Amino acid sequence: MRRVVLVICDGHRADFVSPTLTPRIWALAARGRRFARHGSVFPSVTRVSSACIATGCVPGRHGLHGNTMALDEGDGLVTRDVGHPDFRKRMRRATGATLRVPTLAQRLAARGGHVAFSNVSPGAAFFQDPDGHGFVYHRDGSYGPGERPAEDPLIVSHDAAGDAAMTERFCREVLRQRRPAMAVLWLCEPDHTMHASELGSPAHLAAIAAADRCVGEVAACVDALRAAGDDILLLVGSDHGQETVGETIRLDADLVAAGLKASLGSTDVAIAPQGFSGLVSLAPDAAARAPAIAAYLQQQSWIGTVFPAEDLGQVGLAPAHGLAIAFTLRASAACNGYGVPGRSDLVALAADGRVKTGFGSHGGLGAWEQNPFLVVDGAAVAPGSVTDMPSSILDIAPTALRHLGVDAPDLDGRALTLG
Ligand SMILES: [Zn+2]
Repeated sequence: MRRVVLVICDGHRADFVSPTLTPRIWALAARGRRFARHGSVFPSVTRVSSACIATGCVPGRHGLHGNTMALDEGDGLVTRDVGHPDFRKRMRRATGATLRVPTLAQRLAARGGHVAFSNVSPGAAFFQDPDGHGFVYHRDGSYGPGERPAEDPLIVSHDAAGDAAMTERFCREVLRQRRPAMAVLWLCEPDHTMHASELGSPAHLAAIAAADRCVGEVAACVDALRAAGDDILLLVGSDHGQETVGETIRLDADLVAAGLKASLGSTDVAIAPQGFSGLVSLAPDAAARAPAIAAYLQQQSWIGTVFPAEDLGQVGLAPAHGLAIAFTLRASAACNGYGVPGRSDLVALAADGRVKTGFGSHGGLGAWEQNPFLVVDGAAVAPGSVTDMPSSILDIAPTALRHLGVDAPDLDGRALTLG
């Protein structure tokens, strides 16, 4: 039986895959194929990545533009948290749909099925399969076809211990007993720890070791299933990396002070922070302010690249539902105290008082946040090979579908060369 197993170690940087830091992932690479120039998407945030992995399409096509996103549900543009369990309903209410292209769960519903176990935010978990074609298991809600609540919800803690408990159940129940065509295991580590610690610190390295142990458990289970006759394509990777946070920019307050937004609570201009990048959406009666806001952004000392509406396609976005400008914050190769390179300022809203200076984050186009890792192992894979051919998290869906014999010619990603 042909099957696909995907494991995501959220936020894990490719330069932290090594024989000492990740011995089990390294062992898998030694017998499989490592994609050294693997790339994320923009914004390089988890909820967007989840939808991109699920669909094989860029955000401009599937419609989920950020970890936060401005929606007009009838009261003007308001920035909403995509991670919230209710976001799918808000997105349907404001735009008429969730994702605008089919997910793997939808494509595989009548072809062996799709089961996702996820320990990240509820939004990131649910955007694996937002309309309930297969099964999604998450601590804030587990559901099956038709979004009917599952009888056996996944109740685990949002940390490494929860990842370990989820992995044990995933191997025992999903891989060995339920045997869907595609099974996804999305760990919260090391990303969860990286957001609250310095990159390269003992806490970060412990979180990496915990994720590596989960990968080892899945690899051992896959080996046993292969020995029993299954033809399993195993993909183990991450969705993005992380870099170190510099200053925090409260852009909504700055735009109010500059006279480009009416007030912090106004709905004329909505800022949707994405960590090291941001999105600006404009209400119809504020659309003419786009050039002035772009010019303001361009003048800031912390700015990276500004993408006005006509350039959004360059980074895989589309000017839908008021989205007028995307921007990155300036990234550098500066090292932190542990010698880990990559630093960027971060954008946030004035209402968010948190200061994350020195901790990890992501969301932009920095070299390390844009270099997640990917290792692929299976019968068709050249053993122990490393490729420098560029690849992307968009390529996971077409690679999985090719292995399962499902045609999907309309994707933005391409099936990976494995041999
Ligand atoms: Zn992530």
